[in-house]
Amino acid sequence: MTDSIRHAVNEARSDIAKVGKSLFERGLTFGSTGNISVRLETGGWLMTPTNVSMGELDPARLSLFDADGRHIDGDVPTKEAVLHLAMYGQRKNAGAVVHLHSTHSVAVSLIDGVDPQDVLPPLTAYYVMRVGRLPLVPYLPPGDPELARAVGKLAGAHHAVLLANHGPVVAGTTLANAQYATEELEETAKLFLMLRGMAIKPLTPAQVADLRQRFDLQ
Ligand code: ZN
Repeated sequence: MTDSIRHAVNEARSDIAKVGKSLFERGLTFGSTGNISVRLETGGWLMTPTNVSMGELDPARLSLFDADGRHIDGDVPTKEAVLHLAMYGQRKNAGAVVHLHSTHSVAVSLIDGVDPQDVLPPLTAYYVMRVGRLPLVPYLPPGDPELARAVGKLAGAHHAVLLANHGPVVAGTTLANAQYATEELEETAKLFLMLRGMAIKPLTPAQVADLRQRFDLQ
């Protein structure tokens, strides 16, 4: 490993711990739920370990994976590692994945009658820009290989998906982008719930199309 790669890996370790702590302190994750991964220049990944609070991550003990997705160093990885690998497998430009059990996002996954192709309406421009269309992955138990397969099926066309009765899985080109998109999704879910029962005016299809063109969105 060259010095510059070693430096990048160490930086990724401290970034993951910093983002985890920030998410935890703001109530976006709780208990030992949620996980973060970052793709490394070595071709492998760093991931948060199982059974540890995101508020107390030790950068030196993060789980290290090789380019084939095998755990090679650090603590035992999250049981949800397969969800992350399913996302990376379909998204060559994904540099990081964030998965949370964030309350408002989970809440909208439980509402009967939401559109499974696109769970939330385009309430704001930043939601369209950071999240876009959000498909719902039907409920499957955590750790079920079918769940990772279902995420993989949608990941080619979507960098963000919502697992029913569980939470969002969001990829970004960088950890900051994955984090910001996950936060945008959570806040939009909160807005959506606040507005339930009210007559609302989401962005029109023409406004959404204009944003997609302006910002070169998928
Ligand atoms: Zn989960």
